[in-house]
Amino acid sequence: MQVPLLDLKAQYATIRDEVRQAIDDVCESQHFILGPHVENLEKQVAAYSQCAYGIGVSSGTDALLVALMALDIKTGDEVITTPYSFFATAGVIARLGAKPVFVDIDPKTYNLNPALLERAITPRTRVIMPVHLFGQSADLDPILEIAKRHHLAVIEDAAQAIGSEYKGKRIGSLGAIGCFSFFPSKNLGGFGDGGMVVTNDAALAERLRVLRVHGSKPKYYHNFVGGNFRLDALQAAILEVKLKHLETWTIGRQRNAGLYDQAFASSKIGTPVPVWKSTSDRHYHIYNQYVIRIANRDKVQAALKTAGIGSEVYYPVPLHIQKCFINLGYKPGDFPESERAALETLALPIYPELAPEQLSYVIQKVKECCA
Ligand SMILES: *Cc1c(COP(=O)(O)O)cnc(C)c1O
Repeated sequence: MQVPLLDLKAQYATIRDEVRQAIDDVCESQHFILGPHVENLEKQVAAYSQCAYGIGVSSGTDALLVALMALDIKTGDEVITTPYSFFATAGVIARLGAKPVFVDIDPKTYNLNPALLERAITPRTRVIMPVHLFGQSADLDPILEIAKRHHLAVIEDAAQAIGSEYKGKRIGSLGAIGCFSFFPSKNLGGFGDGGMVVTNDAALAERLRVLRVHGSKPKYYHNFVGGNFRLDALQAAILEVKLKHLETWTIGRQRNAGLYDQAFASSKIGTPVPVWKSTSDRHYHIYNQYVIRIANRDKVQAALKTAGIGSEVYYPVPLHIQKCFINLGYKPGDFPESERAALETLALPIYPELAPEQLSYVIQKVKECCA
């Protein structure tokens, strides 16, 4: 049996006609940049994340970049974030000449540990950027409280977590700005790159919109320097179709996660730990990835590969020890929990179209490999 980590063809098969119709509509309109599909998607994603405003952008990376630009982050500023994330989280900070300042993760949730946050704040700190890794919210209450006390903005890197909730509120709506990615492997994935910024602040929304088109307002008049961060109509039209199915897909992922949780409960295999949990709210985790923790990770991954099962290491090298950040002065050992997670975690297939016999096969093989 073959079980890929993600099977986008299986998803496409269920929505082919709707998607082709949407693409056809855009082709007939010959309106490719921004426009009504983008505006409609912005409204819908904003509503889905309990925000007043959505601004469609060219990628999740650009969502983070334009969010920092909207807050005027520049050379000499410091932005606090986690070293256990996708590269873009820290990359955008460095690209603006600002300094990424890392804070280690909570080993249970893999997200920024609020208990370590305050000691990283300096007079140069401007923003705290928690990541909702794998689809589960960071522990936002203490993060927001510390940010408020120090007059810092919070930008949520929600690239992996659309639809996830923290204590009954949708992520993306709790900080000043929330950033989503529509990279194809995210839960709401386009047919290419795309992203969205959400906010409840009208002035920030306006600034984000202008920054998205080179800082131009009115057209050809520039009060500040922006970029080309536009979402295109084809992506928006496809994402409008897919957003209608997102709840169903999320439920499918949660069902699969529940089956893994149960199967691994009485073993040495570490399963996802909720940062908060309410029996009345199933949205605390949307499982963009289902990540287990095991001591002999590399061996298990190799054995799964032999058995035809896809898996992935997110992420093998924490950001503070990436070569490009050597000038930041960090060294191995600085963030032990991130470094340990990088050695011990493994993402298993969790996509909603996974057949029951495929899931059973993954469970059986993982248990065998970990025995
Ligand atoms: C995917 C991702 C990004 C970047 O999104 P792109 O759309 O690929 O540019 C940023 N942060 C995190 C945590 C991500 O997972």
